[in-house]
Amino acid sequence: THFGFETVSEEEKGGKVYQVFENVAKKYDVMNDMMSLGIHRIWKDLLLWKMHPFPGTQLLDVAGGTGDIAFRFLNYVQAQHRGKQKRQLRAQQNLSWEEIAQQYQNEEDSLGGSHVMVCDINKEMLKVGKQKAHAQGYKTGLAWVLGDAEELPFDDDKFDVYTIAFGIRNVTHVDRALQEAHRVLKPGGRFLCLEFSQVNNPLVSRLYDLYSFQVIPVLGEVIAGDWKSYQYLVESIRRFPCQEEFKEMIEDAGFQKVTYESLTSGIVAIHSGFKL
Ligand code: SAM
Repeated sequence: THFGFETVSEEEKGGKVYQVFENVAKKYDVMNDMMSLGIHRIWKDLLLWKMHPFPGTQLLDVAGGTGDIAFRFLNYVQAQHRGKQKRQLRAQQNLSWEEIAQQYQNEEDSLGGSHVMVCDINKEMLKVGKQKAHAQGYKTGLAWVLGDAEELPFDDDKFDVYTIAFGIRNVTHVDRALQEAHRVLKPGGRFLCLEFSQVNNPLVSRLYDLYSFQVIPVLGEVIAGDWKSYQYLVESIRRFPCQEEFKEMIEDAGFQKVTYESLTSGIVAIHSGFKL
């Protein structure tokens, strides 16, 4: 493979991926900001806007790692739910905004019954996520589960939305993970995947190649002391199918109305599909 990264067999891939994320867990968030110049935050926000969860949504975030999607989800539904409740209170009881704000200062469940389950195969990533949740004061509406995307530890027809952000390319058998996504979603449920994809602009593509292969492993070495893990990340991005191919794989798993949107010249794409 490029730049001397050894080829790994299917059997070895799972172990290799585990080792990579175990190594990078503590530096994962800071590296994400450094490598993407903070742009991963915008991509993740866009995923949430696309999802547009309603209060009561049951979300499963697979390969959820340190919780970036889960925290965004909780903030989003909380803002929506509180906004709606406040407007209702104001209309019904003719209270001022200050009086309404006071009523909500000690409100425990402000999520309208929404819940997010973060599932990841790596306990170190989950540990960092839990620490962040504790530090940032997330108490309700959130659970962390150790589990494999290819064999999810959940019943059929359980969730309204399934998300996987920068996770599916790390899974050994992508088709199995997609089938599992389909199984655990309720009929009418939505699959949303944010993943690196194929750049569609030649100039951006050249710059992106240079950056990926020359800069990212160096950043990995300097910040996380781990050249190889970051080289793996770059390699795994290049091996992942392009937008159209991945769309077909999602359809093959049984999803319908599958669409995608390329962001930042195709550096990443959001794929969406429904279990109908
Ligand atoms: N979703 C998070 C985000 O966007 O910041 C984390 C993404 S991180 C690049 C990839 C995650 O996929 C890691 O936490 C890794 O442990 C997890 N992962 C890899 N293979 C997995 C599998 N088979 N099942 C579940 N999680 C997996």
